[in-house]
Amino acid sequence: MQTHNRTTKNNAYPKMATTKKTPSPIPPRLSKEQMENLKKRQEVCSTKGKSSSYSPMSYAQATNATASILKIKEAFPVLPNKKILEIHDTAFLKPDNKGRRIQHTTKGPSRKQAIIPTSDNIKDTIMGEANTHIFQINMLLKSIKSTTRAEFIRPCPGGVSINMNSVLNTSDLNTIERYLKSINGAGNDEVLAPRLPQSKSYLKITGIPYIQPNGNKLTSDDITTTMKQLELFKPVNLTAKPRVIKASPKSDMAIIWFDIWDSQNSSKAKLLINHSFNFGRYIATIRATNMNPGVPQCHNCWKWGHSIFSCHAHGSRCQKYSGSHKLEHHRDLAWCCKANSKLNPPRLETTKGEPCPHSFKCINCKGKHMADDNKCPFWKHRFNCEWHSKKAQEARETRANSTCLAVGDTKI
Ligand SMILES: [Zn+2]
Ligand SMILES: [Zn+2]
Ligand SMILES: [Zn+2]
Ligand SMILES: [Zn+2]
Repeated sequence: MQTHNRTTKNNAYPKMATTKKTPSPIPPRLSKEQMENLKKRQEVCSTKGKSSSYSPMSYAQATNATASILKIKEAFPVLPNKKILEIHDTAFLKPDNKGRRIQHTTKGPSRKQAIIPTSDNIKDTIMGEANTHIFQINMLLKSIKSTTRAEFIRPCPGGVSINMNSVLNTSDLNTIERYLKSINGAGNDEVLAPRLPQSKSYLKITGIPYIQPNGNKLTSDDITTTMKQLELFKPVNLTAKPRVIKASPKSDMAIIWFDIWDSQNSSKAKLLINHSFNFGRYIATIRATNMNPGVPQCHNCWKWGHSIFSCHAHGSRCQKYSGSHKLEHHRDLAWCCKANSKLNPPRLETTKGEPCPHSFKCINCKGKHMADDNKCPFWKHRFNCEWHSKKAQEARETRANSTCLAVGDTKI
């Protein structure tokens, strides 16, 4: 180690290396840093991936770190050691550690909102008079001397969400629940208890073969059935069905990806990470995995790769035939439902009140299904970012080619 340091020094700072006696006083002062690195390495080795936040530092990395600290020390001899370590950490350590850390829990959406699961009918009723409800909710919050105020209501999958000016407490949530359940037509079945938004933790299960002893492929139902029987999974709620894939195309083992609702400090995930359980005759192990929320689909224009909050489309598109209208107005606005006497045979107008009997065309794959249908290859590949970027690239190239052709046409 010392030889290495001296060599580095001689190359980089030959003068100082000869004038300075020896680096011997420095190693004891640097030992704190080295000890920390060593400690980190030991912790990683002893927990064998138990902690998701530590990244192991190799021997070569540790040596490089010491060498670079020495260089900084030589360049700024007057600086105190603490400052030197700070400079080093900012320059080298932090980005490195950050890049290797497994981020298994999302920060989640803003907690300054209440999510209220409702039936579709009540959702429409609430959205129809959103301002009245905001006013009433704020009056009630005021009457219970709460300082939290509702700002606006928006529809969300399976209900509505109310944005607030601060995080709600239990009595605020109860007040909102009581009010919403008192709306005409609402009740215990139509409006469920409001809850604060939650984070998601991303986990995986390894150690289970893809082909089961009975010759069948492992399914997500097999996994959920086992999960239901186990005490280990009692405190957790899955956000969706687990996904089963082969560990690699030629592997006989499966990887099961599953996501759970969690707190921002991953309290639920910590109950599961690195725990094992029996799956038939096999021993399965739960591991943390990097967040993979998948590729989002925009619920405004139905394209993939962005969410409704960052959509730049001028208006809504219809899932049914990608027209410039919302699905509920498809029958009134879509060309397919309008009469056209010029066609052979002429097309009749769709009868009022009847649903559109015409074929579907997906905006993404042009297939005969709704843009959000789970038959769509875009939906099937929603966790495959590479596949989606390839498709996006292809779409960009097609657009560029068609623009070139159009420009060429006008010139002629
Ligand atoms: Zn969009
Ligand atoms: Zn339409
Ligand atoms: Zn139609
Ligand atoms: Zn499609």
